[in-house]
Amino acid sequence: MKKNIQGSNRQLKSGAAENSLVKSIVTTVKEPVMVVDSNGGIIDANSSFYDLFEFRKKEVLALELNEIGLFQELDKLLEEEQLQEGNIQDLELTFSLPKAGKKNFLINAAALNAGNVPGLVLITFNKVFPIAEKERSGKNDLENFHDIFSQAPAMICILRGPEHIFELANDNYFQLVGNRNILGKTIREALPEIENQGFVEMLDRVYSSGKAFNGNELPVKLDVGKNELKNSFLDFVYQPILDASNEVDGIFVHAVDVTEKVMARKKLEESENELRKLVDTVPAIIWITRPSGENYYLNKSWYEYTGQTVSESMDFGWLNMVHPNDSKRAKDFFVKANESQEFFSTSFRLRNSEGNYRWVLDSGSPRYDALGNYEGMIGVVIDVHEEKEKEQLIGEKEHRIRSIIEQADVATALYTGKEMNIDMANDAMISLWGKDHSVIGTTLREALPELDGQPFHDLLQEVYETGETYWGKEDPVDLVIDNKLRTGYFNFTYKALRDEKGDIYGILNMAVDVTEMVKSRDLLKESESRFRQLADLMPEKVANTNSRGDFIYFNQGWLEYTGLTTKELIKKGWDNLIHPGEKEEYLKSWQNSLHTGRDFEMEFRYLNKNNKYRWHLSRAEAVKDENGNIQMWICTATEIQKIKLEEKRKEDFLKMVSHELKTPITSIKGYVQLLLSLLRSEREVEVSAKPYQMYLERVDHQISRLTRLISEMLDLSRIEKSKLDLQKESFSLNDLISETVQDINYTNTEHNIRITEDHQCKIYGDKDRIGQVLINLVTNAIKYSPLNPDIEVQISKAEGGKVTVSVKDFGIGIDTENQKKIFKRFYRVDRNSEETYSGFGIGLYLANEIIQRHNGSLSVKSEMGKGSVFTFTLLEALED
Ligand code: ADP
Repeated sequence: MKKNIQGSNRQLKSGAAENSLVKSIVTTVKEPVMVVDSNGGIIDANSSFYDLFEFRKKEVLALELNEIGLFQELDKLLEEEQLQEGNIQDLELTFSLPKAGKKNFLINAAALNAGNVPGLVLITFNKVFPIAEKERSGKNDLENFHDIFSQAPAMICILRGPEHIFELANDNYFQLVGNRNILGKTIREALPEIENQGFVEMLDRVYSSGKAFNGNELPVKLDVGKNELKNSFLDFVYQPILDASNEVDGIFVHAVDVTEKVMARKKLEESENELRKLVDTVPAIIWITRPSGENYYLNKSWYEYTGQTVSESMDFGWLNMVHPNDSKRAKDFFVKANESQEFFSTSFRLRNSEGNYRWVLDSGSPRYDALGNYEGMIGVVIDVHEEKEKEQLIGEKEHRIRSIIEQADVATALYTGKEMNIDMANDAMISLWGKDHSVIGTTLREALPELDGQPFHDLLQEVYETGETYWGKEDPVDLVIDNKLRTGYFNFTYKALRDEKGDIYGILNMAVDVTEMVKSRDLLKESESRFRQLADLMPEKVANTNSRGDFIYFNQGWLEYTGLTTKELIKKGWDNLIHPGEKEEYLKSWQNSLHTGRDFEMEFRYLNKNNKYRWHLSRAEAVKDENGNIQMWICTATEIQKIKLEEKRKEDFLKMVSHELKTPITSIKGYVQLLLSLLRSEREVEVSAKPYQMYLERVDHQISRLTRLISEMLDLSRIEKSKLDLQKESFSLNDLISETVQDINYTNTEHNIRITEDHQCKIYGDKDRIGQVLINLVTNAIKYSPLNPDIEVQISKAEGGKVTVSVKDFGIGIDTENQKKIFKRFYRVDRNSEETYSGFGIGLYLANEIIQRHNGSLSVKSEMGKGSVFTFTLLEALED
């Protein structure tokens, strides 16, 4: 471009009027536009221009077009077109854009010589549209200006002079004012309705001060016909236009209708206000934060609740109202949720306007704009103090219950849910299971697999379903303890637990290990049964009673003796077996023992199964506990029938002895007195004529009886003390027998004693003692055959070098039963006529003892009423 077109470049650039007009045009026009001076130097450009060519403002300002590769062709064209004299219209040019590549543009250029501004050229760039060829006619400058700005989205006009006469206006401006004919008219004439809206005054001020005025969203009411004023909002610039002498001679008006924008914002503001009102009336606290987390909005409820002011609550000021102990947690919670843009909910204590802390629940959710950009969070704070306190109370209560259970000695566990989750188990329960704490939190089935196949799972399910408590009593449970399956016995309960609504949610299990007790009781039972077996085996009769003396047990001995069962015995009444003779005394004595606890002992007769009474020694002893209370009585009864009879025999014997001793002594005394009286009166009578001999013989007889009696008794006591000495010698048995019989015959004349000697022999023994045996047998034969006088004594040889001697009588005889007993001490056959046969039942006993001590034997054969044969057998003495 030629550099000599008009004036100096520097001067032009610094021209204030030029500058301000250029600025207002450049900032107003929407399409890419630049202004160059007459030298082609770039004065200014708008942002669309920079964006299109990707220039930076600084890079291009003050450069000339021919210095920029992209614009060299344009520069040439401008020169060719003689721009300073005319303009360029819709000249199509291709530009290589850095990004978009080659693009065609329609270039319009016009000299900005409107008014007194010289040498500036405005160049616009429009993307190519197919356009009709336009006639290039010589239009005036205003028309050119109009052409350029007609397409501009802004409303543009130029006002001239202090009266602000419309010089030109674009289509948009005409539209704004209702297509009135305004050109050439003052603003007051053209738009009378704006008179009191302040615009004229503003124009006056711009005109007089030379300072541009920027109006922002100013409302204007304009007459657009239809008999009404239209409300609009405008952003506008009043830019003074200077003449050559730098005086203001007009105003460039550039206005943009922002009505829609303003209205939309107002609507938004209104609806936001309404929302805010709504939010403020909500009883809950609502908050909104920025993406960075600071508080942006809190509704009225917050300020009422806390008493904070808006400024105090901003950013993180709200945290000052949170309890110091909760504050850090609340903040961390919020910050974390804000960072991760996630929903959160937490509770903390918030100070209210009265200074009290109350529990609140704070929850928030992230919010996003339409494009999905995070905008911060919105949330709500609700007072949950009462609920929280209740919850805490429940928690405390549960904690207390838990700690009671934890410390309880009774094994306790809590299962929840149908699956029996072990929610809790105290140490006692865990050690009872033989497990460790790791079982807590597992199910019962997992914790104790050994329960499978045992009834407990089913029982638990039943309790869970029915709610009925199960009481286990000494139930056996198999548990694996130290890797071994062991059986234990437990008293336990399964009790259903219900929630507030009454629904079952779990089971409380309490258990007491009674294994020791069960085992020891089994042992006790065993030992008791052993005791009973023992008692049953005892020949003694054993029974026991309870503490009151009621019989509860009789051993086998009793049952056998009575022929009754235990039941029958108890029913019949045991004491009814006692002989009536002793019963009364028994009852008295037994009651006394029951009363005092003293041992009981008594002899009485019990009836046996054969209906016979037998003597027993009965004893009872009380078993007492450690406090001395009677638990039971143990009673024994020992049969003493034999002893009793022996005693009786002894008694009888003593009676008899005294009788037997008295009889001879009385008779001796009688004879002696008779003899004495004879002697006294015999002075005159011959001694020989008197019966002295007969009396003395009687006395002698009685004395031998006494002697025998006394020696028998001596022998008896000797035998008892095993002091019966035998003076053994070899002697002729035949001689002894004939001598003895001879002696007996001497005193006894009523019987015929015949000796048959089939054998002659000697024996080795105590001659006197064997003689004593002979005397005994023969005198018995005499005594017990009062009616038949024949007695036979026979000596015969027996097998094995033995000799037998038998003494046979034909007397009263002995029955078979008594034949076995007559050799016993003091035994006498009980005959009705006892008195008939004197004696004391020791003769045969002594005879038997003597024979036995000679290694022989004594026996009897007898038949009642026919007689008896007593036979003894002895070893013969060996020949010398
Ligand atoms: P006792 O002094 O009573 O004769 P013993 O011991 O000699 O005592 O005899 C015992 C009993 O045996 C007698 O009481 C008597 O009943 C019976 N007894 C002994 N010998 C005879 C006999 N030969 N005939 C009948 N009974 C006899």
